[in-house]
Amino acid sequence: MPKSIKTYLKTAAKDYSSRSVNPPVVRASTILFRTMQELRKFQKDVISKKKPEVEHWDYGRSGTQTTLQLQKMLRRLEDAYQVFLTPTGFAAVALSIMSVCRPGDEILISDGVYRPTQKLADDLLKEFKVKAVWYNPNSFEDFRNKITRKTKLIYVENPGSNTFEMNDLGKIVSLAKSKNIFTAIDNTWATAYFFQPLKLGFDIAITSATKYYSGHSDVMAGTVAVNKKAYEKVWWYNHVSGYRLSSDDAYLIIRGLRTLDIRLEKHEENTKKVINFLKTQKKISKILYPYKSSSKEFKLWKKYYSGASGLLSLIIKSKSKNSVYKFVNSLELFGIGYSWGGFESLAVYTDPVELGTRRYFKFEKNEHLVRLHIGLEDTKDIINDLKRSLKFIK
Ligand SMILES: *Cc1c(COP(=O)(O)O)cnc(C)c1O
Repeated sequence: MPKSIKTYLKTAAKDYSSRSVNPPVVRASTILFRTMQELRKFQKDVISKKKPEVEHWDYGRSGTQTTLQLQKMLRRLEDAYQVFLTPTGFAAVALSIMSVCRPGDEILISDGVYRPTQKLADDLLKEFKVKAVWYNPNSFEDFRNKITRKTKLIYVENPGSNTFEMNDLGKIVSLAKSKNIFTAIDNTWATAYFFQPLKLGFDIAITSATKYYSGHSDVMAGTVAVNKKAYEKVWWYNHVSGYRLSSDDAYLIIRGLRTLDIRLEKHEENTKKVINFLKTQKKISKILYPYKSSSKEFKLWKKYYSGASGLLSLIIKSKSKNSVYKFVNSLELFGIGYSWGGFESLAVYTDPVELGTRRYFKFEKNEHLVRLHIGLEDTKDIINDLKRSLKFIK
């Protein structure tokens, strides 16, 4: 009987060999072999990049029972040929880009991507003679016009970090396919639970597992899900660069995955309730989140996603930046911090323009951006906290 993804995530990791509902955490550098012949066979399997579902590993860096278990769960969740595990989400970004781009290539990349990704594309890639070409995530025309014969990789983050632009992902993928260009997407905001990029035709899907896959703000990890076409490239670069996730951290991600569905559905429900309050607030001029059914963002989101997560931004109009700081500082339930995706609400004031990495995002006069992560607390308390603190904005 084929299990639904919800059931699968609950049951996939139970382990009859240890008579436990939890898989063992195997800490290992040395992997032991019974005979030299067996060692040689494993060595050959590793070098021939044998099929992902075959459990072959010969050294701690290529995996343990714990990391293999996590990979198996993620292959199903992402509908992927293989999923590579990295020590952080950003390492998953770096692994993906460095696996594909070579000197003389161009990477066509959305202006809405996570800031460290911008720095990697602009600064590091330049040293390797790879040119970063930035497109406006609000304009498919701009995207299309910037494809050249040198474009090797199209890199999207959807929605954009902090500013939540929505790309037309299906159109991007079909154009890329017709020109035989690799496509990668940072899917951290939705995770594969709400959107499976490989099913739509992306070659590579990146997730910071630090966020919702973990769900508890106590571990860092990244995942790179690939189709068959991208597998060889990512496998090879991973093999020569030494990325690996520890079994302890992999265990915590397995634990998080079991409640991913329940947590994400609750984040979505809470966020909808909080937005219903926020949209009545005069001090907030825009809410960057796919909630207004008449908006272009909503339509693009609805076309591809089955749900929306708990991360959004507010555009606040005020002549006093200090009063917007005071709004953030006065929040009691919301922590001030970056790494969202855990159980608790967070707020952070961000100025993408001042950071100097954005080409297409512009504020109107006296606009400020505050990013919120809506956590799993009671929405009555979240709304009261916001209501009380919004009063400080002048
Ligand atoms: C957090 C984040 C990353 C990086 O993940 P880390 O685990 O913090 O390294 C990459 N992309 C997006 C969109 C993120 O939000």
